[in-house]
Amino acid sequence: MTQLLPILVQTPAHSQVAGTLSYLSEQALPPGTLVRVPLGRRETLGIVWQGDPQAAAGIDPSRLRPVSSVLDALAPLTPAWRQLVDFAAAYYQRAAGEVALAALPPQLRELSSEQLARRLKRQPDEGRAAPVGDTPVLTAEQGAALAQIEAQAGPFLLFGATGSGKTEVYLRCVQTLLEREPDAQALVMVPEINLTPQLEQRFAARFGAEVVVSLHSGMTNPQRLKSWLAAHSGAARIVLGTRMAVFASLPRLRLIVVDEEHDPSYKQQEGARYSARDLAIYRGRLENAKVILGSATPSLESWHHSRPATEGGRYVRLDMPSRVGDGGSLPLVRRVDMNHQPRHAVFSPPLLQAITERIARGEQSMVFLNRRGYAPVLHCSDCDWKSECPHCSAYRVFHKIDRTLRCHHCGYAERVPRACPGCGSPDIRPMGRGTEKLEEQLAELLADVRRPDGGPVRIVRIDADTTKLKGELEAQLAQVHGGEVDVLVGTQMIAKGHDFRRITLVAAANPDSALFSSDFRAPERLFSLLMQAAGRAGRDAGISRQSEMWVQTHHPTHPLYDNLKKHDYPGFAAQQLTEREQAGLPPYSFQALVRAEARTQETAQAFLNTASTLGTPSAEALNVTLYPAVPMSVQRVANVERAQMLVESPSRAALQRFLAGWHEVLHEVRRGPEGQGLIRWAVDVDPLSI
Ligand code: ADP
Ligand code: ZN
Ligand code: ZN
Repeated sequence: MTQLLPILVQTPAHSQVAGTLSYLSEQALPPGTLVRVPLGRRETLGIVWQGDPQAAAGIDPSRLRPVSSVLDALAPLTPAWRQLVDFAAAYYQRAAGEVALAALPPQLRELSSEQLARRLKRQPDEGRAAPVGDTPVLTAEQGAALAQIEAQAGPFLLFGATGSGKTEVYLRCVQTLLEREPDAQALVMVPEINLTPQLEQRFAARFGAEVVVSLHSGMTNPQRLKSWLAAHSGAARIVLGTRMAVFASLPRLRLIVVDEEHDPSYKQQEGARYSARDLAIYRGRLENAKVILGSATPSLESWHHSRPATEGGRYVRLDMPSRVGDGGSLPLVRRVDMNHQPRHAVFSPPLLQAITERIARGEQSMVFLNRRGYAPVLHCSDCDWKSECPHCSAYRVFHKIDRTLRCHHCGYAERVPRACPGCGSPDIRPMGRGTEKLEEQLAELLADVRRPDGGPVRIVRIDADTTKLKGELEAQLAQVHGGEVDVLVGTQMIAKGHDFRRITLVAAANPDSALFSSDFRAPERLFSLLMQAAGRAGRDAGISRQSEMWVQTHHPTHPLYDNLKKHDYPGFAAQQLTEREQAGLPPYSFQALVRAEARTQETAQAFLNTASTLGTPSAEALNVTLYPAVPMSVQRVANVERAQMLVESPSRAALQRFLAGWHEVLHEVRRGPEGQGLIRWAVDVDPLSI
């Protein structure tokens, strides 16, 4: 008998089709089944969804088309997976089809059911995890954390210093789980692709390579399909991945780990702007899987959630303050007061001295600065010309290495002019500094210094410019690990995650700007970056006794640096949370941003303000505040004007209810006169930067 099936397909972001489409089928297909269906003149991948297909009112039955084929070699996606997709779509204000299809491996869209069946035959059988090799004896802190994880439901916030052995705790949790339930699956997420190989090695060494798969965007499509199938079929016991892995199909999921949970890269920055960390918590509850968030510097949201239950906390906080091993003490933090150093010094004399001493001892140092290129601006002192980008409200950055002025927002690049384009003066100079200049100056300053073997100092720079080509980053990191580098210079890329055992000095060249940023999360990010960076130093217990973290600052008495010196994250968090509470900022309120782009700023703002006016009655009823539309901090990018509007409420539920209703209003305004000339708009729920 012919049936009507609701099917989810990938529809354009803002088409009116937010739900399912109806198709005919000769067979009854359970929800979660993957199918191929005609859509317009194409054929596309779809998922049989739940709900009543008849509910789509006004469909003319004669116009309905049949399902083309069924990918019946694959088990249907589970109800929990579908619920996760529905929740994410509703919460982040996107179509369920977009979320669902983006979560499937791209190659699945291309394969016919026969091709897929052949591919599946080649999949390995179910792996059995077989713990291999020695496992270290747990420290008392690790043992206590594990005992709590065993005894309670969670979610857990594992608050452990860098090097306290958090990864070992994750490994043990997985081990305990698989010993009890050999069929179970665990999902372990890390913020960056670069960190997956290291982690994969550790898990493969412990459980055997057959049972571990990775999922991240750096993989080829065939690799991704293979991993996805292994997870979906249940053959893979352990899935390691970046934020996208939160949507992996894991029919027997029992444990979710989110390592470095504070990391901003868990937030997707386009399309459905989901937070993989927040979805991990939701998914854990949904599937009855334990969730462990781990960090040395938790996000203030997670920290706040882990306050005592008597004060309303919902997460169990587990403390691991000590580094593993003898002598594994935290590095000494030294602040250099730049007010008392030679003017315009990039490297203060004491820091230079300290680096020189490390070189003489054959130890490594690392200096980071959060700006790549040579200098952020080129400037004419005669007419005040600056290297503005003609297409953006931003300066083009001077890259000395290829003598270009390059816009980091739109990519527009030009050769550096010989003379000032404004007045013809030859006296145009770089203002400020980036990593390229840092590297150059350091090379000059250390020109006469010799290594213990009499050779010259070897400096390597690692940033987005030196690692554009595949394999470059790995090669550079290998040089550092192999001891072929004395000083490593770079952006925050090098401050995160990497286990540099031989580095005994880490220096932040100029971190002050974040202290006075208009973004209320800037201090949180800075503190976490500096703590992470400090954590890079002295990972090798044998030499960590002398490891140091240097901060060059014009504000040495700033409380943030005070807390850093004491390695006092709780102190820092308490101070920040007090400020946030007084200002009514997250986690004491909930926010969403609506962004609009148009050829003119007026058009972008008019769209937002009209939607705001129409939304005001509902906002007032729900205790939601709509702020006026304002230009974004970089107002124009590639000749497109950008505006944004903040929506805020003390209640997450109220904000969600408001946004759900307002969505239709935004669509209507888009179609009306105020939507004329609008290029695009999007909602960002729980935005990370404002
Ligand atoms: P984190 O993830 O907290 O930064 P890791 O789990 O990477 O810390 O541990 C830091 C180092 O200590 C690693 O080299 C790890 O192998 C080692 N380690 C962890 N736990 C133990 C233990 N119980 N005994 C000995 N070494 C350990
Ligand atoms: Zn000039
Ligand atoms: Zn530009």
